[in-house]
Amino acid sequence: MEDNTITARTYGRHIVQVPSDVSFCAGCNACEIVCTLAHDGVVGPCYNRIFMEKGTHSMVTVIHSCQHCSDHPCYEACARKDHAMCLDENGVVYINEENCIGCKRCIKACVFDPPRINYVKSTDKSKRKAKKCDLCRTRPEGPACVQYCQVSCLSLSDK
Ligand code: SF4
Ligand code: SF4
Repeated sequence: MEDNTITARTYGRHIVQVPSDVSFCAGCNACEIVCTLAHDGVVGPCYNRIFMEKGTHSMVTVIHSCQHCSDHPCYEACARKDHAMCLDENGVVYINEENCIGCKRCIKACVFDPPRINYVKSTDKSKRKAKKCDLCRTRPEGPACVQYCQVSCLSLSDK
């Protein structure tokens, strides 16, 4: 018999906000700032790979970042798959920006709203690049946002 059960989407190891039911986030933007500094050495809203959503009435701030979906639709959609959008041996979905042509297919394919991929706009086409969380995969200390969150409300999921 055909199995019509809708299977839940599964995610890889990713940044989580803790505790998940009550936000301790101070809304200080430190995670966004250290993210851009760790990856690009600059600070700017187009560069961060982690996103704060401040509640307008609730005062609760929710943190969004890539969930490293196990079926990684952004990777599948990439115009330069395995050259621009890549997968490493640990299932981390990352962008090799040298090869990114800024076509935004990955952004459109992200299953989240808003998408978990940022984008650098530029009049110079060669500078248009997608930016996404790669869990600071080449950083020995691990994710910079987790390390520098002043209220320790960020962590890595245990999946
Ligand atoms: S913007 Fe870059 S990473 Fe995204 S689909 Fe296009 S080439 Fe791939
Ligand atoms: S960018 Fe979006 S679609 Fe791609 S792995 Fe992350 S959450 Fe999933």
